[in-house]
Amino acid sequence: MARFLAREVEPFAEQWERDGCVPREVLRKMGEAGFLGLMYSSQHGGAEADALTNPVFAEALSQSTYGGFIITVLVHTDMASPHLHHAGNSEQQAKYMPGVIAGRTITAVGITEPGAGSDVAGLKTSARRDGDHWVLNGTKLFITNGVHADLYFIAARTGTARHAISMFIVEKGTPGFSVGRSLEKTGWLSSDTAELVFEDCRIPAANLLGEQDKGFYSVMKNFQTERIALAAMAIGHCTRALEMTLAYVRDRRPSARPCSTSRWCASARHARRQGARCAPVPLPLRLAGGAGA
Ligand SMILES: Cc1cc2nc3c(=O)[nH]c(=O)nc-3n(C[C@H](O)[C@H](O)[C@H](O)COP(=O)(O)OP(=O)(O)OC[C@H]3O[C@@H](n4cnc5c(N)ncnc54)[C@H](O)[C@@H]3O)c2cc1C
Repeated sequence: MARFLAREVEPFAEQWERDGCVPREVLRKMGEAGFLGLMYSSQHGGAEADALTNPVFAEALSQSTYGGFIITVLVHTDMASPHLHHAGNSEQQAKYMPGVIAGRTITAVGITEPGAGSDVAGLKTSARRDGDHWVLNGTKLFITNGVHADLYFIAARTGTARHAISMFIVEKGTPGFSVGRSLEKTGWLSSDTAELVFEDCRIPAANLLGEQDKGFYSVMKNFQTERIALAAMAIGHCTRALEMTLAYVRDRRPSARPCSTSRWCASARHARRQGARCAPVPLPLRLAGGAGA
């Protein structure tokens, strides 16, 4: 990962920040290098690695200081495509997983709406069954990879009960589905964040992902993977920040503030990072039902 970052990311990422997107080619190269399907079935090109491998990957990836690039990748590997991995049937996996793992098919997940963020059960986008199709109507907001994704996993209401939500697979280009607008942010500039609009968007009945009305629980399950990836991302950033700080205080001429104070601060941060690192490690094992469960 470190070699990949030095060769394919660090020299170009400043320009990606200015462009407001990470080129698709980079994800294809990551796919070729085997980074995008670490936990997934070898049948589809994955590595079938154990539950700790993804957090180790997320931490190593996050040694880059370019959060926009990192979140582009982590949404694909740890936040969107796990929906297909956990709930997709064999036909859906066979159809989409090879492209996802190879980095040809970029994924996004659409849960948040203008009126529903933390309160997932409050979402209003609806899916109505009509013969062999589902018809989606509604708007999703703050969707990472929203502009450049090829495949979207969308949460929509399929019943009147509060938790009657289902997940759907929506391909880019489906009539009635459009990217409303690309949203401006103050950071993570190379990560595209968008509004998605569904207006009588008809998708085949076969694109229901997992059980009807059980999508709320899929979302909650996948949030665990997201949280672990984001914790690993924070630890990776912290590690890099400490390395940069230590390099700075080593090279720096002592001035008004003695170097030893800066070193003491860095040591304290190192200890806190080590503590933080211990926290998320047992979680993937617990989720996988392995050692430490
Ligand atoms: C850069 C970026 C990328 C994102 N990418 C995606 C994506 O790819 N897909 C996607 O679906 N979403 C995405 N999101 C949306 C993100 O998941 C939501 O922002 C998040 O769920 C919070 O929702 P909200 O912004 O509506 O805040 P709110 O839910 O309105 O919360 C605002 C504040 O109120 C607090 N709060 C909320 N409810 C309560 C309560 N009952 N009691 C006490 N405090 C409460 C919250 O903790 C928070 O501090 C993204 C957001 C950002 C900023």
